[in-house]
Amino acid sequence: MTTPALARHLIDGELLGEPMKERANPARIGEIAVLSPSGTPADADDAISAAVAAQPQWARTPLPARGAILLKAAELLRERTPQVAADLVREEGKTIGEATGEVGRAIGVLQFFGSLGWASTGSTFSSALPGTTITTRREPIGVVGLITPWNFPIAIPAWKAAPALISGNAVVLKPAELTPMSATHLAVALHDAGLPHGVFNVVHGGGRVVGDAIARDPRVTALSFTGSTTVGLGLEKTLQTRRARVQLEMGGKNGVLVIDDADARRAAQVVSAGGFSLTGQACTATSRVYVTPGIHDEFLDALAEFAGNYTPGDGLDNASTMGPVVSDDQLQRDVSAVQQAIDGGARLLTGSADSDGLRFAPVIAIDVEHTAPIATEEIFGPVVAVIDVPDYEAGLSALNDSAYGLTAGICTTSLKYSSDFADRVQAGVVKVNRPTSGLDLHVPFGGIKESSSNTFREQGHSATQFYTWEKTTYIGTE
Ligand code: NAD
Repeated sequence: MTTPALARHLIDGELLGEPMKERANPARIGEIAVLSPSGTPADADDAISAAVAAQPQWARTPLPARGAILLKAAELLRERTPQVAADLVREEGKTIGEATGEVGRAIGVLQFFGSLGWASTGSTFSSALPGTTITTRREPIGVVGLITPWNFPIAIPAWKAAPALISGNAVVLKPAELTPMSATHLAVALHDAGLPHGVFNVVHGGGRVVGDAIARDPRVTALSFTGSTTVGLGLEKTLQTRRARVQLEMGGKNGVLVIDDADARRAAQVVSAGGFSLTGQACTATSRVYVTPGIHDEFLDALAEFAGNYTPGDGLDNASTMGPVVSDDQLQRDVSAVQQAIDGGARLLTGSADSDGLRFAPVIAIDVEHTAPIATEEIFGPVVAVIDVPDYEAGLSALNDSAYGLTAGICTTSLKYSSDFADRVQAGVVKVNRPTSGLDLHVPFGGIKESSSNTFREQGHSATQFYTWEKTTYIGTE
């Protein structure tokens, strides 16, 4: 039995809070993975006060010096990767390979935004007025709140914090309650890299307690949230009421269209990687597939074969190719979605509505109606619904008939269909012959419809726009 990791708040440069709240390891019954403090509104208030006090000096710190701290934090996380990844597996469940990849993503994000310390920060224009120059520059927005989910417990905090920090903001982060340790590792790396006290703060605790206190505080000038659509839309109202800036990345129901001219095995590999990697617990995971008649049987045979490669188990055990479901609540959602589909007439090609503890094998549901809940509602587990469609047009139209619009994919060898799909599909990210999950860190990411606030994008250069506003200065030189 491993000793629990100890997560702490980081408030004004100090690790604080009694770590009392237990988080069980989802792969090992009876093992406590982490103990963390349960923050209060007073803790959130302290963290926001520290951020308000620290932000002006941080914004005046030369940009290359700010970048150097992010680069140093990346280096520290690289040295600490074995420990950070193992703690991530214990609290969240994904396999050690997936966790190491996630820590690598956080490192890459810190490097990307750290390198912006040397980038241009504005533009110069000549004016219509004689003897006048116009410059634009981006100013930090102030103190930003970040509220993050459990499924990428270090990558998502990093990809929100790094653009916020390089832009000269101070940050208060509220990580998910299920995964407090990964965010603590990020905070400690930033602190050890020399980030001034108060510039980056973490407060653990409940969404309705700490998250709500951050969202309502008038000193928090912007809030970036990733999580469920229900919680996100509630936060949007709160932030809009006080006219603060808000960014939401929320649920998804990502579809792939597999058409007759695709390579059936390649398509099956794309769909299984998108649907079952990360235990299907990715906002970008594939959860519905539309298949045309000519490729149907060959594709399903191959998909069942690839699904068989996923063996759920302890993520720290090299024999496991898939981690457990993150929690009992999530398992209940997976199981009841599958049972409801069976009751509605679907058949299971692989998997079942049963689990071994939190180990839940990949489910492929066939004979699914396009309007069935398993084809329309987010489950967030390793469950793929297959819907038969007569042709490309019907498949595209069914895929677009969704409340969500995060990622979408097509498997085809045709240039005509791949470019038409990219033009007409309603999703923020489009993948051709690639899994719907898996993103590069230097390009914009975000959804449309109920998947996103659809205002500002995350990741890459675009990410800094949310954390800054543009100032235009006219300089008369005579
Ligand atoms: P969740 O919405 O339950 O929680 C997300 C965060 O919000 C947590 O930190 C939680 O404590 C906090 N929270 C909950 N209620 C709150 C409230 N009333 N006020 C303030 N904060 C509150 O989501 P989850 O279960 O942690 O994560 C799974 C969801 O996240 C899925 O819907 C998934 O699609 C989504 N997700 C989206 C993306 C994306 O980029 N679009 C990425 C990862 C996960």
